[in-house]
Amino acid sequence: MSDLEKIRELVDNLNYYAYQYYVLDEPIISDAEYDKLYEELVKLEEETKIILSDSPTQRVGDVLLEGFEKHTHINRLYSLDKSQSFEGLREFDSRIRRELGLNEVEYIVELKFDGLTICLTYEDGLLQVASTRGNGRVGEDVTEQVKRIKGIPLSISDNRVFEIVGEAYMPLSAFEKYNLENEETLKNARNAAAGAIRNLNTEAISRRNISAFFYNINTYPEYLFKTDLETKEFLKSHGFITSIYNEVYKNIESVINRAKEITNIRHSLDYLIDGIVIKVNNLSYRSRLGYTNKFPKWAIAYKFEAEERVTKLLGINWNVGRSSKVTPTAILEPVEIDGVTISRATLNNYNFIKSKDIKLGSEVLLRRSNDVIPEILSADNSYTDTKEIEKPVFCPACNSKLEEIGAHLFCPNTLACPPQLLAKLVHFASKNSMDIEGLSEKTIELLIEKNIVNKASDFYKLKYNDLDGLEGFKDKKINNLLNAIENSKEVEFGKFINALGIPNVGEKTAFDLSMYFNNFENLKNSSFEELSSINDIGPKTAESIVKFFDTKEPIYVINELFEYGVNIFYNTNIDNNLDGKTFVVTGSFEDFKRKDIEEEILKRGGKASGSVSKNTDFLILGENPGSKLDKAKELGIKIITIDEFMEMVK
Ligand code: NAD
Repeated sequence: MSDLEKIRELVDNLNYYAYQYYVLDEPIISDAEYDKLYEELVKLEEETKIILSDSPTQRVGDVLLEGFEKHTHINRLYSLDKSQSFEGLREFDSRIRRELGLNEVEYIVELKFDGLTICLTYEDGLLQVASTRGNGRVGEDVTEQVKRIKGIPLSISDNRVFEIVGEAYMPLSAFEKYNLENEETLKNARNAAAGAIRNLNTEAISRRNISAFFYNINTYPEYLFKTDLETKEFLKSHGFITSIYNEVYKNIESVINRAKEITNIRHSLDYLIDGIVIKVNNLSYRSRLGYTNKFPKWAIAYKFEAEERVTKLLGINWNVGRSSKVTPTAILEPVEIDGVTISRATLNNYNFIKSKDIKLGSEVLLRRSNDVIPEILSADNSYTDTKEIEKPVFCPACNSKLEEIGAHLFCPNTLACPPQLLAKLVHFASKNSMDIEGLSEKTIELLIEKNIVNKASDFYKLKYNDLDGLEGFKDKKINNLLNAIENSKEVEFGKFINALGIPNVGEKTAFDLSMYFNNFENLKNSSFEELSSINDIGPKTAESIVKFFDTKEPIYVINELFEYGVNIFYNTNIDNNLDGKTFVVTGSFEDFKRKDIEEEILKRGGKASGSVSKNTDFLILGENPGSKLDKAKELGIKIITIDEFMEMVK
């Protein structure tokens, strides 16, 4: 391979990894692996002087997400130069002293938070815009998201223009709690924070308890302050959360000692750090040193090395989760990494096991870098007795035959398999499914515990005597519940499909299916080809549906539902009068919730989108509209009031 080909390959790979990391917030390689390839590219570029125009060394990394307004920063935001050795820090110091012509330079040492950069613009004392770093010049406007972060000052007692830079993060305690409480777990706290902020739906911010530290003023601090420490004091006194670990040191050797101390305490912190940042403290020196096209010449990051260990794979646990997915966990000979004992690691799915050639008894290379969940990087089978890992055929919990959909295995017994049961029954009874009013999660849990309900159809067998005597159940409550169950028997087709909990079929798909099929039998007997031909239904979903109706356990429960009087109400009266039209809703409405308006659009064959584009047909305008209104005007989209919309659907 020629140098050029090698460079092309590295650039393509790094750009692809960066896309996974920045756009999808789903990294497919670890940071350490990425950094290694990046270093290789830097070295090759230096040696050959070949620099491709799309090389990641030539620009600040992030790719801008669609759907967000763009925001141009007043001043550029930069990345950081990096070193993984103390020698690298000494070289950095020599260069700085040489360029400044000084014997000693004072440095401020800060933690290198591993989250998402946010840049807040204040003017007239008010937070005007919050944005991501983006490509350094233009970032995504995430004002609504950032305003929801606790502790962000919405106003400050200074009317000048400021760009204030910090890092948003998810506390590790919140990350661990989230992963215990949710089955769709977050991979690491860094991507969890980035994913919450770069999300048009702002709910994730509080669900993930996102917080932020601020460390920099990006708008000409050298005219306002003498040192970085003074800017930190300013930030603190104006209500920004700053780190308690910012410290100034007289020379590079004291900085290195501090780096060693921080390396030792890094795991006691409630947030991820991936190194420390060393910056020249004096701001006029910084102006003299300037910037490269990628980073300030007056700062460097000392990045911690990710620790890796070899251990032995003792066994595999296959677990069925609440979403029906059956996933493997590696049971390992306990090993200590970074002061934490690790005896389990995720294996993702069977393809992952095969692609890494992981076997029972393999020596596996384990890494716990910033990913809190340890990962297996590779397996070595050369000097141990190893055995192939077999793909399970039956559900470890209920023994139903497993279905393989895409890369994952699923237990199809969604309406009765014990680990899935509580979540599935809560979903089954919920408003957008069978809508059994007043049937709470607590009651369902009690009914499962007392062995009164073991599958969805059992609700419809409940009698007064079954409930009499249960904790909290008096005459009125029993009658209310039995009435609610009775009333739920007449159910809209879409809600019934949603209630079944078919893997990969959410509320919207259930609704689409109910619009396409005339009756349940037609849906049940539909083929993969027919399903895939329906708008918005992809092959994965089509496959799930066919497999679901091919499995005896759910069919048994569905037949019981009909036997006990569940009756599907086919909504044939609704006109598809919004067929194919795309609507965007902005602002608030006195008499309607946005969700209800969007449901109405879907019901009538229209599309409800979260952002305005040239494909939008109508913008429904409410009180206090957001930036969507400006965008719609700019693109010449038809703007209508809620009354006009109601007229359309009448
Ligand atoms: P970086 O994230 O390593 O360093 C720069 C960033 O550090 C700044 O933008 C700032 O947000 C942050 N920072 C945190 N604390 C700071 C402080 N006290 N002072 C100043 N800045 C501080 O570099 P980058 O260019 O943003 O991203 C590149 C890194 O991202 C790579 O080194 C790699 O680890 C990771 N990455 C990983 C993948 C992957 O696939 N795993 C892909 C792309 C990038």
